[in-house]
Amino acid sequence: MGQSAFVTQVIPRYSDDDGPYADVLIQIDGRQIGGAYPCAGEPGDRWASWGPAGLSMKHPDRQAAVRAQIQAYAADPSGWDRILDEEDAEKAADRARRDRELQQERARRRERRRRDRLGDDEPGPTIVTIPAYHALYAPIEEATAVGDWLAAHGIEDAASCVHEIRVEQRAARRVVVYQALASIVDDPQARTETSVVTLAMEPPAIATPPRPDLHQLFDDHWPTRFPLIDYGRRLACGRCSGERRSAMPQIGSSEALVVWPCSVLQAQIGGGDR
Ligand SMILES: [Zn+2]
Repeated sequence: MGQSAFVTQVIPRYSDDDGPYADVLIQIDGRQIGGAYPCAGEPGDRWASWGPAGLSMKHPDRQAAVRAQIQAYAADPSGWDRILDEEDAEKAADRARRDRELQQERARRRERRRRDRLGDDEPGPTIVTIPAYHALYAPIEEATAVGDWLAAHGIEDAASCVHEIRVEQRAARRVVVYQALASIVDDPQARTETSVVTLAMEPPAIATPPRPDLHQLFDDHWPTRFPLIDYGRRLACGRCSGERRSAMPQIGSSEALVVWPCSVLQAQIGGGDR
């Protein structure tokens, strides 16, 4: 079988360099079999190549260096094809193994994080429930007691209170199950993830019943702080403040501020005792 039986191509190794001294790759029938590169040496032996002929040095020019590899290939094309096939298969197997290891490591990390969050023990029955949004509609004493209890467990983000918080009885301990902020976003709808912490202190008694009817209203009239206007001392209703500002564009930002809980909420919570 002669050289004419296959198509040989010599292409620059680096796309930005195709000058006379550029590194090149040798392709036969579209498959890379080796390459050639210039090296230090006496004039007349400054080219080397690699491929089926092994490392072949001291060629006077690139053409000669390339030819050495093509001749070695041509001496036993099917043998070289078999070797190249094996190399390709090995590379593919290597890639697959690395991918697999990466996936396994990711899964291990996910699992570790999950256990850190949820604990090693099995979930158990719920023995106490703090209703969602409780802090926003319960009498101030009750809301404060829950806030102190949560703080004692290191649970202090506002996202927790828009979700139900439970105390769960597990085999060897009781735990507080709550929704922790998954990312730092000042938004009651922010994504959260279930987290568990060992119960350190009895939860306060909850006398106020759940108010699922108010959830949507609280989401609309969410309490916000305006640190630049009143140094973050008061809570304001973001929605009502925004509406007042657009209705009366002539007034200043601080005058537009509607203190939370706004009248819309007070009418629904009843009594305005907050
Ligand atoms: Zn409002």
